[in-house]
Amino acid sequence: MTTPYDLHAHSTASDGTLSPTELMTRGHEAGIQTMALTDHDSTEGVAEAKAQADKLGMGFVPGVEISVSWNGMTIHMLGLGVDINSEPLQTGLAGLREFRDSRAQLIGERLGKAGIADAYQGAKDIANGGLISRTHFARFLVEKGHAKDVRDVFKHFLVNNKPGHVGGKWADLEEAIAWVKEAKGQAVIAHPARYRATRSKLRKLFRDFKEFGGEGLEVVSGSHSKNDFFTIAQHAKDFDLSASAGSDFHDPNTPWIRLGNLPEIPRGCRPIWHDWPRSH
Ligand code: AMP
Ligand code: MN
Ligand code: MN
Ligand code: MN
Repeated sequence: MTTPYDLHAHSTASDGTLSPTELMTRGHEAGIQTMALTDHDSTEGVAEAKAQADKLGMGFVPGVEISVSWNGMTIHMLGLGVDINSEPLQTGLAGLREFRDSRAQLIGERLGKAGIADAYQGAKDIANGGLISRTHFARFLVEKGHAKDVRDVFKHFLVNNKPGHVGGKWADLEEAIAWVKEAKGQAVIAHPARYRATRSKLRKLFRDFKEFGGEGLEVVSGSHSKNDFFTIAQHAKDFDLSASAGSDFHDPNTPWIRLGNLPEIPRGCRPIWHDWPRSH
């Protein structure tokens, strides 16, 4: 059985390739009943996605995927059901986008030193007015023939010890959870099995997350294996966190992440949607 929920997807407002309208239409066609838009560090696409979901008679959850730095790691945290008019949330996200732009310029300079010219402008053009992510640089590098696909880029560029890598600090975990809670949303750790962390470090993350008011782990993710579902489900139970499900869809040309085929969350987990609709 597949789950009727997909609570993690991207549009052209960040590094997705479909407009919010196209994304909702495609999700609806794939049989998703309730879908969230969770662009990186931006809610720019939410109004358009909601309008389209309403038109299609589909459930919609306004969301965002916030970049967080925690103990030297970059963690992605979803805010689900957020009020996009919340001032602390929007001020926080604006700060992250400012950091993104200065980082993008630095990435461009570093790629320039590695012999790849005009990458900042190239990535900016591909982002087409939306924020600039490493995915846009990756698409530029593929276009210029430096890698065979986006996944290949992340093996040879833009990561630690490779050309175009730039470190830096995103939001603090406690602060990002506070933004989401202030916006009456629920904080969920995205794709927890993807972080390069030992089991004990991962559990420290979940402990901090719970203590600061986090509510869920993305147990079922398009980037998790079947094994990961069960490992993360057990962590969710151990820390009394709810379970979420999301594809992390970016692009119809990525064959291993499709809309509408996420399995149901494992038995014994409390779904993040157990008390929806929430009366905020
Ligand atoms: P940023 O938030 O700008 O650092 O970019 C991170 C984004 O890059 C993620 O949200 C993914 O969409 C993409 N990404 C990171 N690693 C990979 C990978 N190995 N393969 C494909 N896309 C990746
Ligand atoms: Mn992305
Ligand atoms: Mn992510
Ligand atoms: Mn994502």
